[in-house]
Amino acid sequence: MRFKPHKPSLFGETLDSLTEEVLAAGYPAFRAKQIMEWIYKKRVDSWDAMSNLPKNFLNWLDANFILYPSKSLLNKRSEDVTQKFLLQLEDGSLIETVLIRAPQTGVGQEKSRKTVCVSIQVGCAYACRFCASGLAGFKRNLIASEVVSQLMQICRMEDAHTQRGDQAIASFDNIVFMGMGEPLANYDTLVKTLRILNADWGLNFGARRITVSTSGIAPKILQLANEGIAVRLAISLHGATNQVREQIMPINKRYPLEELIDAARAFQQVHGRMLTLEFIMIEDVNDSAEQARALAQIARKLHAHVNCIPYNKVEGLEWRRPSVHKQDKFVNQLRQRGVSVTIRREKGHDINAACGQLRLKTEKAAFPI
Ligand code: SAH
Repeated sequence: MRFKPHKPSLFGETLDSLTEEVLAAGYPAFRAKQIMEWIYKKRVDSWDAMSNLPKNFLNWLDANFILYPSKSLLNKRSEDVTQKFLLQLEDGSLIETVLIRAPQTGVGQEKSRKTVCVSIQVGCAYACRFCASGLAGFKRNLIASEVVSQLMQICRMEDAHTQRGDQAIASFDNIVFMGMGEPLANYDTLVKTLRILNADWGLNFGARRITVSTSGIAPKILQLANEGIAVRLAISLHGATNQVREQIMPINKRYPLEELIDAARAFQQVHGRMLTLEFIMIEDVNDSAEQARALAQIARKLHAHVNCIPYNKVEGLEWRRPSVHKQDKFVNQLRQRGVSVTIRREKGHDINAACGQLRLKTEKAAFPI
């Protein structure tokens, strides 16, 4: 069932929907444009700051909408470059947003490349066996305002130490849908959010700087390919044969590799961009030479980049990461076959930044099982 907030947040409106509401309440259409300007370009956090709007209109806004639908409970900064936010929604649900700073050599922190990782569901129904988000099951889908506002909160925070003459651009560089939840299982929210982020009246954020990561819902990959939004696609592969992938990701039984690869290839052909295959390295589960060989084959077929990620230990799950030596060996086997590979070395391990870990810890502390 779709979550219905007590009062809707402005961050869930499109210019069309807001214009309709404004007109229906008897105000001129241009007021909707002014509001969008205040929230996405000037990034104010109160009605009072919207100084060019008449009092009666502000009263109407206040009676019918809220600005931010979440409050920040925790803000953890890791020893490296990751900052994690735990947010509480109106119904008490907890979600996570992560800001990752990739320092660029020779420049100060304000110049580092910033990526924001957002959540799209509370919990997750897909039960991937490496992932903390699925441990407590699925609670509900987020609505668009709850996703857009995660980004706008970070944007406002970063505005403070970003030197921008013009506030009309976002104060981070990339957005990844790699937080809690499965984006393609909350498809309508995903597409609505992408349109709001992309719109010139919205955040005006280029689709090419947005990555949607999926566990592999093949039919939805095909649908997304035809939305006319040129986002990047990342596929959580983690197993290069059906037999191995099935043990790691139950969804592989529903959409086996053959079907997933066909859908991914169709997406790649529509958008012409390189896909990313994510591959968590788990000791004695998927780090064999056979897996490297099969993975290289898939990567070449899809013209995809492979991102190898050492498994991050999750409390309550039994797996381990391979030794650094074994990790390097696996990566080299891919390189030798001409695959473009990166290996993600630690970011945020010390603040539980792997998908769903911070929420899980907080909930466990609050409601010990
Ligand atoms: N449902 C989507 C988005 C969730 S993000 C998807 O499946 O793609 C999933 C990504 O988070 C994984 O591909 C991996 O890159 C990362 N991740 C999750 N749990 C992890 C763990 N325990 N160790 C390392 N990476 C993890």
